[in-house]
Amino acid sequence: MTRTATPPATGPDDLDRLAARLDAADPLAGFRDRFVGSETSLVYFDGNSLGRPPRATLERWERFGLEEWGGRLIRGWDESWMELPFTIGDEIGRTAIGAASGQTVIGDSTTVLLYKLIRAAFDHQHAIDPRRVEIVVDRDNFPTDRYLVEGIAAERGGRIRWIDVDTAAGVEADQLRAAVGRETAVVVLSHVAYRSGHLADVETLTRISHDAGALVLWDLCHSAGSVPVECDAWRVDIAVGCTYKYLNGGPGSPAFAYVAHRHQAALAQPIQGWMGAADVFAMGPRYRPADGMRRFLSGTPPIVGMLAMQDTLAMIAEAGIDEIRAKSIALTEFAVEATEELLAPLGVGIASPRSPAHRGGHVTLSHPRMREVTRRLWERDVIPDYRDPGGLRIGLSPLSTSFAETLTGMREIARAVAEVG
Ligand SMILES: *Cc1c(COP(=O)(O)O)cnc(C)c1O
Repeated sequence: MTRTATPPATGPDDLDRLAARLDAADPLAGFRDRFVGSETSLVYFDGNSLGRPPRATLERWERFGLEEWGGRLIRGWDESWMELPFTIGDEIGRTAIGAASGQTVIGDSTTVLLYKLIRAAFDHQHAIDPRRVEIVVDRDNFPTDRYLVEGIAAERGGRIRWIDVDTAAGVEADQLRAAVGRETAVVVLSHVAYRSGHLADVETLTRISHDAGALVLWDLCHSAGSVPVECDAWRVDIAVGCTYKYLNGGPGSPAFAYVAHRHQAALAQPIQGWMGAADVFAMGPRYRPADGMRRFLSGTPPIVGMLAMQDTLAMIAEAGIDEIRAKSIALTEFAVEATEELLAPLGVGIASPRSPAHRGGHVTLSHPRMREVTRRLWERDVIPDYRDPGGLRIGLSPLSTSFAETLTGMREIARAVAEVG
């Protein structure tokens, strides 16, 4: 699955030769042309925050407007839209997160799905064993995850058990083992840390949580579509992930949720809307949750937002997630090598794990002036993003990024750092 390490480049021209060689040997190189904007000289280092649009999506949007919405009108719900959250969910399960069908659904925003499922898991655990009042979460988890945990703990009379982590790393087994115990209800962790790119060992951390009697919710926002995930094989309980990052669903496209078959009947989520009810169109007097994944829905599914991700899911199925991961590793390794060559002499450090086995699809570079560097780069059509403290994130979306593009961007970063000194 991982490629052999690339031989070190020793001069600036060697980086060009290396980029050319890696592009020529890249079995996924042809996918880049299938994205809008890949024909321009813009360097895109933020596909981990908002992926580029697939060209096929433009056609899909038009067809949807003319034929489905325009032509079928309200009949569209019966004919296909009601099932779309489940069919696309199953496709995400199959191609990206290792989930057998019937366990993945497209729902609300990531934040709302996280809220619904952390709360469902907490309530369930607390009901079985009232001593279980703690939610374990790390201090460098994504803000929305931390804020939700604060709110849920306050709302349900729970407590938070914080894990302190280095901002250039992520949660490791020993830290989790020290944090969980007989009072743990739920553990909330990110597979790939949004800041450092640290790749957590899901299987081991899940086992540690289970050994303490806890349920674990994995946030897959920064891994789905770039790092292989095996929800079923790793015995994951619950997972939530974004679709507008590596799945290129477009700005604000709805998130997906995975709930293992074994937990579905026991979990009750708090936003009891008609779309999660047992018989949606019975319009009955009382809420009774549907069986299966439908119970985790609340209101009318955001169909328009689900269109684009289908084109990327088809590409992932075609390319294979293991090939995608191999290219992702080659890209981040190349970025690290270019950093050492071009940026380390300017005082730029790497705030991500050095071993590709412990790193997801992005690399974070650190320098005290990175905020200003990012501003200059955006003006020059080189688009990374900035995260405190002093971190410039380089997201390298494997299907749409080339090695030559990466090298161009790294040179522009070096130029901007040299300017702001
Ligand atoms: C991007 C991201 C989110 C975003 O949540 P939204 O509700 O889509 O804004 C949540 N968690 C993580 C880890 C993320 O990377």
